[in-house]
Amino acid sequence: MSKVVVLGTGGTIASRNNPAGHAVASDDVSALLDSVGVAACGIEIESRDILTTGSYLLTPADQLGIVREVLAVLCDPAVSGVVVTHGTDTMEETAYLSDLHHADSRPVVFTGAQITAGEPTSDGPRNLRDAIAVAADRRSHDLGTTIAFDGLLFPAAATRKRHTTALDAFDNGATGPLGRVDTGVLTLLARPVRPQPLPFPKELPRVDIVAVYPGADRTLLDAAVHAGSRGIVLEATGIGNANLAFVDGARECITNGIPVVVATRVAGGDIMPRYGNGGGADLAEVGALPAGLLRPAQARVLLASALAVASPSEIAGIVRTHTHLTVVPYTPVNQTDT
Ligand code: ASP
Repeated sequence: MSKVVVLGTGGTIASRNNPAGHAVASDDVSALLDSVGVAACGIEIESRDILTTGSYLLTPADQLGIVREVLAVLCDPAVSGVVVTHGTDTMEETAYLSDLHHADSRPVVFTGAQITAGEPTSDGPRNLRDAIAVAADRRSHDLGTTIAFDGLLFPAAATRKRHTTALDAFDNGATGPLGRVDTGVLTLLARPVRPQPLPFPKELPRVDIVAVYPGADRTLLDAAVHAGSRGIVLEATGIGNANLAFVDGARECITNGIPVVVATRVAGGDIMPRYGNGGGADLAEVGALPAGLLRPAQARVLLASALAVASPSEIAGIVRTHTHLTVVPYTPVNQTDT
């Protein structure tokens, strides 16, 4: 029998309205499991609460703590897979952090909900049941960390929250979904080609995201450096453009050993060094690194993890390898794998 450990961290899936009528994470993970009724599906379930909080409140130390717990659970060879229930707001960051440091073949599956536990229409029970089914499925080996949500399974890398309220809260502009999950049955379509996982860091350094917009100067970039940022992610416009003030700021950062990664505020598409006069070609010329298909939130996680575990000369290589995202079609080996 498969054994799945469910780790609770809070989020909408665990939220109920407080007396003021505001949703607050409050249910423990055993209450979530009661709502799913998984006892009958032939999967042994163990559960543990790590946190009970909104994911909009998490710190990098909390996120590292969640991943540390996942790795601790996987020290038990009897465990088939791990599920993490998590708020949707920053799920893409914690799941990606997990994926970056996940060196085990067994699956780690994040899930959550858009509708609170107190509502009869909550999507939490369905999402949790699907995530458990994925975590228990042998075919999920070597998928890394995934997000199971609204009947779709996504690789953590390049998946982002795409809608504030819709049940299909996530998408992945780089690879699309890896599969579908229908009433707890996984149909696998593709497998990610995963880069070499990074060693697990003790702590994450401060990395800030600085937005580029019409009229933006380098005030906030300088403030981030002044506040102790060890790396900067530019949330650039379009294909990765900024302006001459940011190019000067990026040059100065890079000269001072603070790497700069260029991501975009646009929902889809790659970063290209195409434009001059403060555009992406100038940023590339001063040594800024393209985030490829990672959006700013995950580019920040990647840069922080890279800074935590690698020497300055290795950062560019790590960013390059981890922003090259590909999947290969899933081909079943035999009948039981279909
Ligand atoms: N909307 C969020 C959620 O789904 C709130 C949070 O991230 O905790 O849980």
